[in-house]
Amino acid sequence: MMNYLELENGESLYSSKIVCIARNYVAHIKELNNVTPSKPTFFIKPNSSLANEGQRVLLPNYSNSVHHEIELAIVIGKSGKKIPKEKAYDYIMGYGVAVDLTARDVQAEMKKNGFPWEAAKAFDQSCPISKIKLKDDTIDPQNLSISCSVNQELRQDGNTNLMIYKIDEIIAAASEMFTLHKGDVIMTGTPEGVGKLESGDILTGEVEGVAKIHIEFS
Ligand code: ZN
Repeated sequence: MMNYLELENGESLYSSKIVCIARNYVAHIKELNNVTPSKPTFFIKPNSSLANEGQRVLLPNYSNSVHHEIELAIVIGKSGKKIPKEKAYDYIMGYGVAVDLTARDVQAEMKKNGFPWEAAKAFDQSCPISKIKLKDDTIDPQNLSISCSVNQELRQDGNTNLMIYKIDEIIAAASEMFTLHKGDVIMTGTPEGVGKLESGDILTGEVEGVAKIHIEFS
């Protein structure tokens, strides 16, 4: 079964891929002792990694440390390749809040060995996403507070104005590599405060004025 995004107007939209930027907030890079990339660095999650608001999310049993990374999600509205930065916003149809679930222990092992990250980043339901709010001119996506609580304890509390690479730069750089199609999702990176999830946890996430998400983990 394919997964679909749910739009606020009740429509559903197919998504061929989720393009994620790695290490896009300074404080998050520091908390993981990572090196800041000299250019935007991307990885991909497949359609099978999507989970919709309200779905129960199963943590992968091969990891003992699945982390939440709350992120502003951008939904692409029309196909584009090598999109110039100045035109990037024309390609956006909406916004949501999503979680880039990361099997941190598995990722550490992959990084140490120089292996690809898919087992850590691209497993089923590794990208729970809210309903998508359609773009309107009252939203400045580059200046929104973004937060994540687990069992009502605030864990992540940032603002999209702290991104290293801005949304227009991310779309331009990603589309150098990947043709972006309508429905594709761009994940814009996570602020600091990532942490471990356990079975039974309830996560709530919010991008101010845009979207909320509520997820229960098993
Ligand atoms: Zn992330």
